[in-house]
Amino acid sequence: MTSTDVQQIYLDHQATTAVDERVVEAMLPYFNNKFGNAASRNHQFGWDAEKATQSARETMAAGINAKSREIVFTSGATESNNLAILGVAKMYAPKGKHLITCSTEHKAVLDPMAALQNAGYEVTVLNVDTKGNIDLNELRNAIREDTILVSLMMANNEIGTIHPVKAIGDICHENGVLFHTDATQAVGKELINVQEMNIDLLSGSAHKMYGPKGVGFLYVRRRNPRVRIEPVFYGGGHERGMRSGTLNVPGIVGMAKAFEICQTDRDSDHQRITALRDSLQAQLAAELTHLTINGDENNRLACSLNISFAFVEGESMLMGMSGIAVSSGSACTSASLEPSYVLRAMGVGDDLAHSSIRFSLGRFTTQREVDRAAELTISTVKRLRDMSPLYEMALEGIDVASVSWGAH
Ligand SMILES: *Cc1c(COP(=O)(O)O)cnc(C)c1O
Repeated sequence: MTSTDVQQIYLDHQATTAVDERVVEAMLPYFNNKFGNAASRNHQFGWDAEKATQSARETMAAGINAKSREIVFTSGATESNNLAILGVAKMYAPKGKHLITCSTEHKAVLDPMAALQNAGYEVTVLNVDTKGNIDLNELRNAIREDTILVSLMMANNEIGTIHPVKAIGDICHENGVLFHTDATQAVGKELINVQEMNIDLLSGSAHKMYGPKGVGFLYVRRRNPRVRIEPVFYGGGHERGMRSGTLNVPGIVGMAKAFEICQTDRDSDHQRITALRDSLQAQLAAELTHLTINGDENNRLACSLNISFAFVEGESMLMGMSGIAVSSGSACTSASLEPSYVLRAMGVGDDLAHSSIRFSLGRFTTQREVDRAAELTISTVKRLRDMSPLYEMALEGIDVASVSWGAH
């Protein structure tokens, strides 16, 4: 069955978002009428494209309190993270080869870090507590003489926990260490001020904020301190040599329009989406026992609701809930079902991790959809639990964890 056969309720906005119609509208002229190469300096086609990207650059910069020359356009947050981490690592290697990150980062941070480790760098991976928060003292203690970069995300993509970015930035700057933040889940949703927060490098992506896929940006600080990065690939010297390649003009125009809309609507979107998320959580909690909210309930993204439903298995749940598009706490890697490494890092057991669902709401989510999703989830969980001997035992007061199952 394809998604066009049934009207699915989309609650997977932390994976990607639909492009806002206003964004599509803004992009359209740049596919044909104004198709020029922003690097063409000799004619109107090029000038028009350059003007559009410059205006987009200013919009992106203003939205995070940066200068337009500090914005590097990329193909998305994966590239931005790689450029920030590998670029700093190469440029500052003479100063030191130690970097710091944490266990719940996106793979687009953890994998370049692992690649650096293989290349002779040292990486300290900070732990998180049961809500996904790092310990600032642990960060302080991890910083060494040869530390060149701290990379800690602004908001987590699985559980929505928001890191204390300003406090982290302060610690980094007190110690003369550069601070990169993967802010992909926060851009357009949370207030960001790179000056106030002492951020040196910041990654963002258009498709997480109602813009198109395949375009993103990296903020690279130019003053206090001036950050220098070695490019990851080489070519025409675009983006002041940091990122060669012809600019994706329609994508960039779309990203800026998307960011602009996010800023205009931020407070009202935040309020409305929080209310919908809380309504979903309340409806589930009213009808179901043995729920665990994963993440920090007092400090998470408005859109984010990650719940473990004990005594049901995530994949069976997803099948039962086929009318709703959500993500589960199991990631299909090769043949096996691996529980989410983010939940694992928070100390969530494999069983609960497998039974977890990430609901993420968005700008176009309605109360009706939330009610329907709650209804479907409740009936699925109840049905699966009715078939679960473990659940029956738990209802009888038997501590299921203490039961010995023998060899199997
Ligand atoms: C989606 C996401 C990414 C990857 O962004 P792309 O633009 O899809 O490459 C990186 N980090 C976080 C936190 C994300 O949510």
